[in-house]
Amino acid sequence: MPVDPARLKAALRREEQRFDAAHPRSRELFERAKRSLLGGVPMNWMVRYAGGFPLFVREASGAHFTDVDGHRYLDLCLGDTGAMTGHAPAAVVEAVATQARRGFTLMLPTEDAVRVGDELARRFGLPVWQTTLTATDANRFAIRLARHLTKRPKILVFNWCYHGTVDETFATLRGGAVRIRSGNLGPPVDPVATTRVVEFNDVPALEEALASSDVAGVLAEPVMTNIGIVHPEAGFHAALRELTRRAGTLLILDETHTISAGPGGYTGAHRLEPDLLTIGKPIAGGVPAAAYGMTADVAGRISRSASVAEADTGGIGGTLAGNALSLAAMRATLESVLTEAAYARSIPLARRFAEGVEKTIAEFRLPWHVALLGCRAEYWFRERPPRNGSEAAASIDPELDRYMHLAALNRGILMTPFHNMALICPATTEADVDRHTQVFRESVAGIVEG
Ligand code: PMP
Repeated sequence: MPVDPARLKAALRREEQRFDAAHPRSRELFERAKRSLLGGVPMNWMVRYAGGFPLFVREASGAHFTDVDGHRYLDLCLGDTGAMTGHAPAAVVEAVATQARRGFTLMLPTEDAVRVGDELARRFGLPVWQTTLTATDANRFAIRLARHLTKRPKILVFNWCYHGTVDETFATLRGGAVRIRSGNLGPPVDPVATTRVVEFNDVPALEEALASSDVAGVLAEPVMTNIGIVHPEAGFHAALRELTRRAGTLLILDETHTISAGPGGYTGAHRLEPDLLTIGKPIAGGVPAAAYGMTADVAGRISRSASVAEADTGGIGGTLAGNALSLAAMRATLESVLTEAAYARSIPLARRFAEGVEKTIAEFRLPWHVALLGCRAEYWFRERPPRNGSEAAASIDPELDRYMHLAALNRGILMTPFHNMALICPATTEADVDRHTQVFRESVAGIVEG
């Protein structure tokens, strides 16, 4: 049964009215916010709200949050992975409160830093680590190091990737040529000068792009997640590793989202062997912190070639990076929150989420499917999984997206705003997932031809 465009339009209008009527306090705060905040929000992405204005939040705990109008929501967005640990996990709250009384930031290491380094090394199989405040910074620094060590100018990324606000990565393929990504603001240079782009899962194109020996590093998510979940085909990672090694190109894997696959991310679960690995978002339970790790070989080459006297102006690091508060939060998250036991709970629940959605897809014979990546699940408006970013991008339906998000929100469920993605945290319950199953069916029933 296909979606009926007229029913979709009418249903979307009804949901917009319902949202508007139910959130007077959020609307009032938004009107005030517009006076002093660009677009009425403190950060640009928050303009991507499904209703006529963003929800303003009063508080969040575990898998739920309450808005300023007093409505309680099941949070399947979880800060777009920043709160994949669940909101305000007790161990992190305790560690942050304790550290707060002992000082926030020193530009000197604390003992927590050693514990964090050891644990990251154990999980990801890379022995040497540095911390940053954001995954964006981790990626920027990894790229700088790749260029520094190889003396090569280019970075290779996969079409429709996202790795943070990293200039080299805002490039897509258009008609087979590298072009600045649509919507990118104030690009410093034409990405043709900095970036090669190939489609994910395209081994021959990758081989060709690396052949000219001018690529310093490949920056990749081991599974694409930001244009929706796109899994690597069998043999793709082996080829990626083999080709980068042969070309003398460093392989940087970004585990910021794929940490949903398990305690050591996709890299740990599949024993991948990157030269550098970056991770941010949930690694400190939602407190700003990120990290990048490297092999002993890379670490040795950096140590031998970087100046101690000019360490503060080398282009990596930052005043607040490695601060005591973030490291206390990171240690608590790694030791007590993002544990094996937490994944043993959240991954089966993501499967339950997928099965619930699949039941409705089958009932209404929709040409949709569900993709899974550990505790991350996502439904797609296409019949089969996409092979690469282009196929994925082609199946985005903004109006249908907006309706599904708003219908869920009006029934007490927040999905991740940029696609139809749900994250399960250790505090999510079977009843929460089943509530989504019910809401998803109700939302679909409102728009299919009947
Ligand atoms: N890497 C990946 C894979 C991401 O999805 C993101 C953010 N969506 C980032 C890096 C950047 O994270 P941040 O915005 O926290 O710097």
